[in-house]
Amino acid sequence: MENLSTKDIVKKYEFKFSKSLGQNFLIDNSVLEDIVCGAEVNKDDFVIEIGPGVGTLTKELLTKAKKVCAIELDSDLIPILNEELKEFDNFQLIHKDALKVDFNEIIGEENSVKVVANLPYYVTTPIISRLLNEHYKFKSLTIMIQKEVGERIAAKPNTKEYGALSILVQYYCDIDIVRRVSPASFIPRPKVDSIVLRLNRLDSPRAEVKDRNLFFKVVRHCFNMRRKTMWNALKGLKLPSETMERAFNNANIDPKRRGETLSIAEFAKLADSIHDLL
Ligand code: SAM
Repeated sequence: MENLSTKDIVKKYEFKFSKSLGQNFLIDNSVLEDIVCGAEVNKDDFVIEIGPGVGTLTKELLTKAKKVCAIELDSDLIPILNEELKEFDNFQLIHKDALKVDFNEIIGEENSVKVVANLPYYVTTPIISRLLNEHYKFKSLTIMIQKEVGERIAAKPNTKEYGALSILVQYYCDIDIVRRVSPASFIPRPKVDSIVLRLNRLDSPRAEVKDRNLFFKVVRHCFNMRRKTMWNALKGLKLPSETMERAFNNANIDPKRRGETLSIAEFAKLADSIHDLL
């Protein structure tokens, strides 16, 4: 079987790119190799690829993994993928929206699951949130995303990038930067720089909390009003002032601080103190 490049396949099928589906396909082989290598895919792994496009990255993954299950939303890409990847008997294609699929159904009994994706940028945050919050059993998530979003994910307290997304990802994962990628590595060229991150799921979350929903609610309230003090931002919880005063006191956190100065451990302490007073 001939080894066609992304550009060859696009030309062969006269494929028309859809901007609204975030279609920027990789044309740079060094990036493909670095993603596969960064994901540390091997013959024990069941890989889920979100948004395979014309299958260039998928093909690399198929040669390294036990099995690759790709989820693609665009109907025009389904026949192209089936044709171009027909030589692989370890390939499965699911024609669905990755925001709606039941990953547990896909994963089944597999126990070495890795997610790899050059994500459509318009759904980056909802996909990451789903994969992390819904507790699917994957070992790592190797994703190409917009550079600015990558910086927010990896940000530390007291920086302007630090926010609810940093806390969500760092609560569940360790983060490795695999590489940066310039717009010239794609067709069509995106307007922004990209970055490849590997998120390694921790065996247990970074902080023990009594009520995870409350913890993330406190985080969200603080960052929705990030210029305000925590005292003012957490008025949104609609709890009596006395309760809040005692919660800050018990957690040993100054209510005049802003949320962006708190570590995950401090947010956890505050959420637990509030929980104990409810
Ligand atoms: N993996 C290919 C590559 O690296 O060249 C294509 C990456 S492109 C940035 C994103 C892909 O995700 C496109 O194929 C697009 O059709 C697909 N896509 C967009 N939204 C999706 C969704 N909600 N669920 C599944 N796939 C989606």
